[in-house]
Amino acid sequence: MDCIFCQIASGKIPGDIVYQDKEIIAFRDINPQAPRHLIIIPRKHIPSLDQMKEGDAALVGRMVAVATKLAKDEGVAGKGYRLSINCGKEGGQLVPHLHMHLLGGRQLSDALG
Ligand code: 5GP
Ligand code: ZN
Repeated sequence: MDCIFCQIASGKIPGDIVYQDKEIIAFRDINPQAPRHLIIIPRKHIPSLDQMKEGDAALVGRMVAVATKLAKDEGVAGKGYRLSINCGKEGGQLVPHLHMHLLGGRQLSDALG
């Protein structure tokens, strides 16, 4: 599988990993858009929200829960932060492995797109 995020999850290519458990892994974005920019992914290769199955809902819920824990660890929880999931070409998704961005550490723009 030549998916870059699967390769980070399996340790085949290096990533600045800040969290991992049996289902989820989080690492720093290689091209950060904010002082704190983490990527949270399921280990399971789900290409995008569009390919989510009903049985994946708990897993995606856990991604949110892990992100809120990481927001605390990164010191942005009280100040505010943004979680976002891009889906498909017009949604701005470049890497075809479901992932959530955690952005924080500066005042983020009001614009969503
Ligand atoms: P997308 O546009 O698909 O929602 O976001 C993909 C994100 O993955 C981008 O913010 C990009 O900087 C990040 N990214 C792409 N390749 C790598 C990589 O090899 N390592 C890490 N840590 N981040 C990556
Ligand atoms: Zn993958």
